[in-house]
Amino acid sequence: MLDIQSIRKDFPILQRTIYDHPLIYFDNSATTQKPRCVVEKIEEEYYNVNANIHRGVHFLSQQATEAHEEARKTVQRFLNARSPSEIIFTRGTTEAINLVASSFTDACMSVGDEVIVSVMEHHSNIVPWQIQAAKKGISLKVVPINERGELIVEEYEKLFSEKTRLVSLTHVSNVLGTVNPIRQLIDIAHNHGVPILIDGAQAVPHIPVDVQALDAEFYAFSGHKIYGPTGIGILYGKEEWLDRLPPYQGGGEMIASVSFEKTTFNELPFKFEAGTPDYIGSTALAEALRYVSRLGINEIAAYEHSLLQYATEQLKQIEGTRIFGEAAEKSSVISFLIGSIHHYDMGMLLDRLGIAVRTGHHCAEPLMHAMGIEGTVRASFAFYNTIEEIDSFIAAVERVRKMFLNK
Ligand code: PMP
Repeated sequence: MLDIQSIRKDFPILQRTIYDHPLIYFDNSATTQKPRCVVEKIEEEYYNVNANIHRGVHFLSQQATEAHEEARKTVQRFLNARSPSEIIFTRGTTEAINLVASSFTDACMSVGDEVIVSVMEHHSNIVPWQIQAAKKGISLKVVPINERGELIVEEYEKLFSEKTRLVSLTHVSNVLGTVNPIRQLIDIAHNHGVPILIDGAQAVPHIPVDVQALDAEFYAFSGHKIYGPTGIGILYGKEEWLDRLPPYQGGGEMIASVSFEKTTFNELPFKFEAGTPDYIGSTALAEALRYVSRLGINEIAAYEHSLLQYATEQLKQIEGTRIFGEAAEKSSVISFLIGSIHHYDMGMLLDRLGIAVRTGHHCAEPLMHAMGIEGTVRASFAFYNTIEEIDSFIAAVERVRKMFLNK
């Protein structure tokens, strides 16, 4: 059992008031708040260890390098990757997907080849492929969803052809909360001899992820969504695949030697890390992963599930509620609309009551089109949220409903 009141003390921002109301932060799918230990790690490293890494002979540079490489090992252990060489530091999920889209398309795809994505993808797992489609003449095949917001596995199977080169799917939907049957989807791709990239941005903070057990070729996530700093994320890739792919960007660090006649590239993982990496961010991310591991990802999942269930039951009591995404397997995200109330109006009025939710298309416009709506209100929970906060949120939604619908 998690001691939520003591956990909340680790997150100073949760003590804030907004318009004289205690902050209720339900925008955790967009980004999570940071525990004191993560922020202190950043301060400690800047004040005591800061020096550019990998190249220096001096003490500080070596210490900073060790911290950065130790952070890589922490991520490796967190994901249960085989080797630290399989962990590439990126700016986030978006950059990780762009890296694969660019390098994989260059190395493995030609005109007429196909990538399978799904209708529930975040724009960051659609647009990079569209950019490659425009450059290289590849095309996207799209897995549809059913009325509960689950991928239709039989339709997914039908999309494979002899032209399919890669599958790129989200593990958990940031709008619907659907936890996709990712092991099954990976097995299906492999049965067709096709590698697969998983967007784990909304999965890693909420459910245990073991990349060896999953067996996907690539897996991406963002530090800021798992209580770590902004500007750092991870691309996991199987070594044999990362070896096959060309570098994404050129610059310092990623080379073995450079001359105007011939440049050779560094070994993994450095081949994909051009320029000075965010070595402060990497150590702070490692601190966040240690924090999450101390609480226990299974305990987090169980507690967040109880918040989801409670909030769903309560929200359904409100007249005119429509919930988008009622998958059997769901993470702690609720997208909803109340009667004809516009999502922005609901979001703005909740904000006036100190409640932070997200409104709009949530960077998933194709999903909104598929559901025939413009946007939703989205409440997304983390382990520091409480049942009392959900009660206040439900009372606030009901208040807004009465205001607009006058009954
Ligand atoms: N994929 C999903 C499912 C997401 O929810 C997000 C962030 N909302 C991203 C990718 C992009 O993550 P980032 O902006 O951190 O790169």
